[in-house]
Amino acid sequence: MPAKTGAQYKEKLKNAKNNIYIHGERVEDPTTHPAFKNVIQSMADLYDLQYEKPDKMLYTSPQTGDQVGMTFFRPETIDDLVKRREAIQEWARLSGGLLGRSPDYLNAEVMAMGVANDLFGEDDPMFAENARNYYDYARENDISLTHTLIHPQVNRQKAQHEQDDANVALHLVEKRSDGIIVDGARLLATQGGITDEILVFPSTVKKAGEQDDPYSLAFVVPNNTPGLKYISRESFDYGKNNWDHPLSSRFEEGDAIVYFDNVFVPWEKVFVCGNSSICNRTFLETNAVVHMSHQVVAKNIVKTEFLLGVVLSLMDSIGIDKFQHVQDKGTEIMLTLETMKSHLFKAEHNAKLDKWGTMTPDFEALNAARNWYPRIYPRLVEILRILGASGLMGIPTEADFHHEEIGPLVNRALQSKNLEGYERVKLFRLAWDLTMSAFGSRQMHYEYYFFGDPVKMGMTYFEQFNKEPYKDYIQDFLKKVKAPKPNYTNV
Ligand SMILES: Cc1cc2nc3c(=O)[nH]c(=O)nc-3n(C[C@H](O)[C@H](O)[C@H](O)COP(=O)(O)OP(=O)(O)OC[C@H]3O[C@@H](n4cnc5c(N)ncnc54)[C@H](O)[C@@H]3O)c2cc1C
Repeated sequence: MPAKTGAQYKEKLKNAKNNIYIHGERVEDPTTHPAFKNVIQSMADLYDLQYEKPDKMLYTSPQTGDQVGMTFFRPETIDDLVKRREAIQEWARLSGGLLGRSPDYLNAEVMAMGVANDLFGEDDPMFAENARNYYDYARENDISLTHTLIHPQVNRQKAQHEQDDANVALHLVEKRSDGIIVDGARLLATQGGITDEILVFPSTVKKAGEQDDPYSLAFVVPNNTPGLKYISRESFDYGKNNWDHPLSSRFEEGDAIVYFDNVFVPWEKVFVCGNSSICNRTFLETNAVVHMSHQVVAKNIVKTEFLLGVVLSLMDSIGIDKFQHVQDKGTEIMLTLETMKSHLFKAEHNAKLDKWGTMTPDFEALNAARNWYPRIYPRLVEILRILGASGLMGIPTEADFHHEEIGPLVNRALQSKNLEGYERVKLFRLAWDLTMSAFGSRQMHYEYYFFGDPVKMGMTYFEQFNKEPYKDYIQDFLKKVKAPKPNYTNV
């Protein structure tokens, strides 16, 4: 089947009748529900873009000859990598990089694990074949995915098997001849319920010991599998119009707790079954983390461009762009953007074929970028907040501007150097929605945590970094300091 259109994505979701709960109710049809319909439309727009720009967004499937999504593409040359990245950035531009879980994020994971599947075969060759088949299936059917990596946040001092109620977390209940039964909760699924299927994978960061084998699983199931339940957090799409909430009204992805209530998973959809060692090595040894980081860095370049555009427009509008500290703050964002682009350039131009023949970006460059951006993004948001000042609170709604009596007053009162009030508030509402609305603050939280706890990621980074050359450098330097060493033998 060729790549999906937006209408096909929506139709499938409507018919799937996934078990989604929100605000204390079960959702009958997410495509018409106020909490989900707008982001579903944005996802549909992504799928439609595949046909609006087929040269960039589609390629010919090696298996069927159909036109399939470029974000599933397995790169074999550096040009291939660049082509895939251009498709990623094409999608990111539609939302200003604010749809963190546009399908390309997990398409990169499915591709990497499908190709580099030997690791899964350590337990049973069937698991390696499952991973390979799933890549083919997902690509040929343009499957949209959510995923979940984390056990519930009960007591982080203890391993999962040591918890008082250890089986609150997703665990293996039974192995049967046709598959496995799993039960328990997992966190956190962004776009939970509004995709076709869910991938359950181990965390990239949290490692488990052998006693946690019953909790060490990797598999995929359709979201309408009996027993699978998505419990969504409160929606930050408050049903406002695009003018009032330009971002929340289009890109509020939602996050959900996932409950597996004795769910059956057929063997052909299992990749790891009760093996902490394989789970611990999954992301690195399949290079999935590298291809996912490539998507993230490409997407976050677009996000930084979007934020920079808002900041520069805001500076222009209220005439603050010539002040020294304001320029310096603009420079901070520009430096972030250029640094991210340099990471991406190095990653792509130093890419090498891995042992499976996939052109794999230089992880050194991407790993630095993915560890750095969560630390810098809150500062970018802070800059926008500082420069916007009261303008981020003086933001009447569109209805105020259409009011016969107060409309002309606010249009005059909120004029700026180069914009009338109506246009200026439109811009400032965008800045507010990007930073200070519930949607904006969730974006900051997302960037900080979505790849894992940055503190633990930083510790891993420190451990893995090749420190010896730098220590040797200083030892050599100190050796050349010409000074007589004191002789203490007379003491
Ligand atoms: C908006 C958002 C969207 C997300 N979307 C997804 C998704 O789609 N799929 C998915 O699988 N996950 C998702 N996540 C979850 C994400 O993977 C986790 O938030 C992340 O891995 C951190 O884990 P945690 O939340 O359990 O934090 P915890 O591990 O509970 O950490 C909480 C705090 O305690 C500290 N801490 C905990 N343990 C230790 C320790 N041993 N030593 C030192 N400090 C410690 C941490 O540094 C942190 O400050 C999302 C998270 C957010 C916020």
